[in-house]
Amino acid sequence: MKYGIISDIHSNLEALEAVLEALAERGVERYVCCGDIVGYGADPVACLERVRALGCPVVMGNHDAAVAGRTGTEDFNQNARRAVEWTRERLPQEWLDYLASLPLTAEVGPFHVVHATLNCPGEWRYLMTTYEAKINLDIMTLPLCVFGHSHVPILFRRAEGQISFGSEVEFTLEEGVQYLVNVGSVGQPRDGDPRAAAAVFDEESGRFELLRVPYDIDTARVKIVSAGLPPALAARLVTGD
Ligand code: ZN
Repeated sequence: MKYGIISDIHSNLEALEAVLEALAERGVERYVCCGDIVGYGADPVACLERVRALGCPVVMGNHDAAVAGRTGTEDFNQNARRAVEWTRERLPQEWLDYLASLPLTAEVGPFHVVHATLNCPGEWRYLMTTYEAKINLDIMTLPLCVFGHSHVPILFRRAEGQISFGSEVEFTLEEGVQYLVNVGSVGQPRDGDPRAAAAVFDEESGRFELLRVPYDIDTARVKIVSAGLPPALAARLVTGD
């Protein structure tokens, strides 16, 4: 089985389509989505349609939860809050219900799937340190956990009790080793590389790889500005931060 892992699409249809094409070209048969389908970008309905059509496990992100009224926006900055309101006004009830129905965690094949952290998934914390990684690695029952939320790819690996980490998200699964992987963001990368991010895991070879996929940033950017969303949300797509 070849898995394609996507996260933090944020209503960026151009990025999502480019990523799905790249994953299909690599022979991906099954998809996993770590949440935040909506928020920030101009195409929430089209992105929801594409993701639901994949028929894959999808977990709830904090933006999905905020749009669906499941979580407050006190922790959101002004632009993010504006995008949540903009999105909520445009989504038919069917899609608000869909977002509200998403689980906080899922398990598929060798993966735990979560948006933020496995130990407190509804608190939307950022998993950035080995301390937090340890808490999450301790409760994993499967060898891999994929997540998103920070939009910055990172790999935590624990072998013989030692946790190492790095931004190089590429490895071959080893027996007895645990992996906690942030797969970056499809629709709003923040690691300085504006290309869309997504991952492929080949169960047969055990190879896990992060892809960076160029897409039509200009179209996505113009749509955000034309939709009346905060221009800063368009500008950051160009810089990838
Ligand atoms: Zn996000």
